[in-house]
Amino acid sequence: MGGVFTPLNLNVYAYTHQDPLRYVDPDGREITVKRHLDKSGVWRTDIKFTAVLTNASSAKLSQKDMASYARRIEQAIERDYSKTLAKGKEVVTAHADIEVGTKATGGQHTISLVDQIAGSKDVLGMAPFGKKDILVNVGLVTGAVSGGGASLERTSAHEFGHSANLRHPNDPANALKLLTDNLMSQTQYSSSEKVQFNQVMEMYKASSSGLLNQP
Ligand SMILES: [Zn+2]
Repeated sequence: MGGVFTPLNLNVYAYTHQDPLRYVDPDGREITVKRHLDKSGVWRTDIKFTAVLTNASSAKLSQKDMASYARRIEQAIERDYSKTLAKGKEVVTAHADIEVGTKATGGQHTISLVDQIAGSKDVLGMAPFGKKDILVNVGLVTGAVSGGGASLERTSAHEFGHSANLRHPNDPANALKLLTDNLMSQTQYSSSEKVQFNQVMEMYKASSSGLLNQP
């Protein structure tokens, strides 16, 4: 158990050993990472993410602007987490569905644009491992924050990674050793986008073990 090639039916089995109350998701509106071998011999990993984007900052942002930020975040996540490897034998597809609203209903994550995180204007984003709240510095859309590879796209996709249980490459608790520069590197050290395949497998393990989508 726990190997990256664990068949899907065993994942269902693994779920029954978790506390079911923590994982109630009647609409399927959370982070899911599923994996199967299709009939043509291709391993397919599908990442799904549903969230509400909300403006919790003092900035005046129109509905139209908010909708465009939501599209930009969706596209960044879909781009940064999708990949094809081993000459098409390993395909990862990410799908993000982000609506604009004031609060999550039905189990989505919440991405909140906020004035300040952890008391510092320099903190671009924050998302506790495996949990549903993602904070993004509103300065990334108002222009108050720039440079160092920072962008709404990169920060949002990076914080999404933390909610999916991914750690920084230099985090001592990171189980994945020898990671090169990637999306989960901190922005001041890197503007690299995309996650590595072993990070996708970490997300898959976390999803299969019921570690994601905690309140
Ligand atoms: Zn981070």
